[in-house]
Amino acid sequence: MKQFEEKIRNLREYQKGKYNPKQYVSSWSEKELIDGKIVDAFVIILRTRGCSWALKSGCSVCGYINDAALENVSDKDLFYQFSEAMKKFNAQKIVKIFTSGSFLDENEVSKVMQEKICGTLGKKTKKVIVESRPDFVNEEKMKKLSHLCNIEIAVGLESANDNVLEYSINKGFKLKDYIRAAKTVKNVCSLKTYILLKPPFLTEKEGIKDAINTVKIAGKYSSTISLNPVNIQKNTFVEFLWKRNEYRTPWLWSAVEVLKESKKLTDAHLMCSPTGGGTRRGAHNCLRCDKKILSAVQDFSLTQNLSVFDNLYCECKEEWLDMLEVEGFQC
Ligand code: SF4
Ligand SMILES: [Zn+2]
Repeated sequence: MKQFEEKIRNLREYQKGKYNPKQYVSSWSEKELIDGKIVDAFVIILRTRGCSWALKSGCSVCGYINDAALENVSDKDLFYQFSEAMKKFNAQKIVKIFTSGSFLDENEVSKVMQEKICGTLGKKTKKVIVESRPDFVNEEKMKKLSHLCNIEIAVGLESANDNVLEYSINKGFKLKDYIRAAKTVKNVCSLKTYILLKPPFLTEKEGIKDAINTVKIAGKYSSTISLNPVNIQKNTFVEFLWKRNEYRTPWLWSAVEVLKESKKLTDAHLMCSPTGGGTRRGAHNCLRCDKKILSAVQDFSLTQNLSVFDNLYCECKEEWLDMLEVEGFQC
């Protein structure tokens, strides 16, 4: 495993001082659901020193470290970033504060700043969503932040299979770590779980099975599950495989299949918004039918109505079905 970790690390192109620590990464508005109603959500990506795990080694599919400052960002600079981004806030009902790492990691966002940002948002919006690795979740912190705002914690479990977590994703934690954090969050506020579709080294069929199995487990704790088909981010291990033609991003048919099957297994709200969908670096089909499928996936994410997938067809579906049967076949 040391070699796998080292390979991931060596593919990185670190450049300290590349970014201005006063400059946030980006912000935008998107549609989300709150209490069953479609509302606008404001997303802010703050620039911190970067995900602690990525600074050590990192997940095989994640290139977020490309946007990180790679050195400590002071509380003053971080709050400046937040205040600048908030100039574009337009009374959206949800605010998502992401750091391309863990908001709850005090090496990225100090305790003081966590509380200051949540306190500020608590007075302006209905719901705040932040992301964290399980390691940084503890009950005391959860209670404190949930008094300041209506907070939801998003955790990237990716796969409920410890072998996939270790040998395919290099996640740096096990299922039991997620379960501990999930129970802690669930006792205090709501939990969103990210699940990866088709991590490296899995066939398309194995990827589908793994994602469905993960929904089954994460669904016990989560109010929302976000299915994230792998996309090819810069300087990642999966990009290394992809450039050697040793990896294909998942088919959109696979995402549809996982959503359809998962709906039978959980009451959690299921969503999927494939990054780079319909391009070679993102989940795609034959590229001719992609728009249609992506639009159905988006409709499903907002309505949970499986009928949006009825009558979806393209010739490439036959190719996808054949591939499910033969990929990985050995004599
Ligand atoms: S996926 Fe999350 S935990 Fe993994 S390296 Fe990226 S930011 Fe860190
Ligand atoms: Zn097609």
